Amino acid sequence: MRARNKKEKHIYHLRDQQKSLTDKQKAWGYKRLNNYVVFRYSRHVCTECGYKWQGDTEVTRKNNGCSCPKCNKELKYVALDNSSEEFVKLFSIVKVFKGFQVIRNFEFYKRVFRSGENRTSVAEVSQTWIDTDGKITYLRLNRAGNWNSCWSYHSGLEVRGNNANGYYPNSAELGMRDNQDGVYPGMKILPMFKLRGAKYISGISIVSLFEGLLKDTLTETLLKVKQYGLLQFRVHSPHRSEELKRHIMIALRHSYVVHDPMLWDDYISFMKELGKDVFNPKYLLPENLKEAHNEAHRLVEIQRDRIHAEQLEEKLKDSKEKARQLAITRRKRKKLKGFLLKARGVVARPLITKTDFKKEGKAMNHCVADYEIKPNVLVFSVSVNGTHLETTEFCLAKEKVLQSRGYDNDPSNYHNMIVKTIEKNKQKILKQIS
Ligand SMILES: [Zn+2]
Repeated sequence: MRARNKKEKHIYHLRDQQKSLTDKQKAWGYKRLNNYVVFRYSRHVCTECGYKWQGDTEVTRKNNGCSCPKCNKELKYVALDNSSEEFVKLFSIVKVFKGFQVIRNFEFYKRVFRSGENRTSVAEVSQTWIDTDGKITYLRLNRAGNWNSCWSYHSGLEVRGNNANGYYPNSAELGMRDNQDGVYPGMKILPMFKLRGAKYISGISIVSLFEGLLKDTLTETLLKVKQYGLLQFRVHSPHRSEELKRHIMIALRHSYVVHDPMLWDDYISFMKELGKDVFNPKYLLPENLKEAHNEAHRLVEIQRDRIHAEQLEEKLKDSKEKARQLAITRRKRKKLKGFLLKARGVVARPLITKTDFKKEGKAMNHCVADYEIKPNVLVFSVSVNGTHLETTEFCLAKEKVLQSRGYDNDPSNYHNMIVKTIEKNKQKILKQIS
């Protein structure tokens, strides 16, 4: 991919001046992937030198490793379900280069085999370039999928993911799992970040931290008061923490340390659901968050059960009431047996039984059959001058025609006359059913 503008061209030019990892840096990374001992039948196998020996497997398992009698390396025990197992870690080199804050991310890879071999590799998977105006450019390899460690290793470090609208996604959206596993010692930071207190904190992505520091002062404040739990929440879940911003400010004012922001977030949601004022420090800042969380959760469950039961009862009441109304309506329809409303050539014959409704629906090609179970309505099959033309729904509560439909739901030429005639003579119907 070619650089699309002057700035990208400049960064590509600087990218190509980057040095490869030194042997010392490589050794540092591989050391963090550890060495491993596996078992083959009852024998120990060192995946570093391939030496096999008989040892006490129970003791090795219990100690979570041992040292190799031959190469003397410290080995971690790993249970192999398959013939091999892979280990991947991402380490960053943080430095200043030609006025840019640069973060280079390297993926260290190791696969160990039951046979006593191992295979290692290292690949640079992404770079982040931040200029002194705070503009960020992300370079990365293409991704072959959405899980971790699925880079297309020969695709080249390039600007990716920004769309034609000029929208540049952040590192999290790009799937750059930046330095989740560590930073190579001796990192260099631009003064603008140093002034804001930037440093490497285990478990916090350094790129996300820089992004957070550029965005607002809350990240800086959290960093300075060492609220690392909230800081991690802030930079790794920016949207969620933005919603809790006011709560976080209250916690800071009261020097309330939140060690587990996810738990706190849940707790606040529960308290809101319970109708508590979550801006009141008394509720927002419990002495023992875990206990308060569990208690709030318990109360929320009770409340949810109660609401659910009430809703069920309401539903039941509704359906009972509906059944009662329908029974009354059916009794009224029966009273119309043999009744015909005749006026001005219109003859309206009431539909009484389920069969009546079904027959009418078939004859007129519409869904009147479903109206048999509708309470508080009477339905008439209407002819004019001896021709079956429409089906008319008459509402008992409003004492008027709700709808009148001809074949296939289309109105007949006599539609208005039919409606008028029935409404004009409604007393005859009402008298019959009273
Ligand atoms: Zn060995």
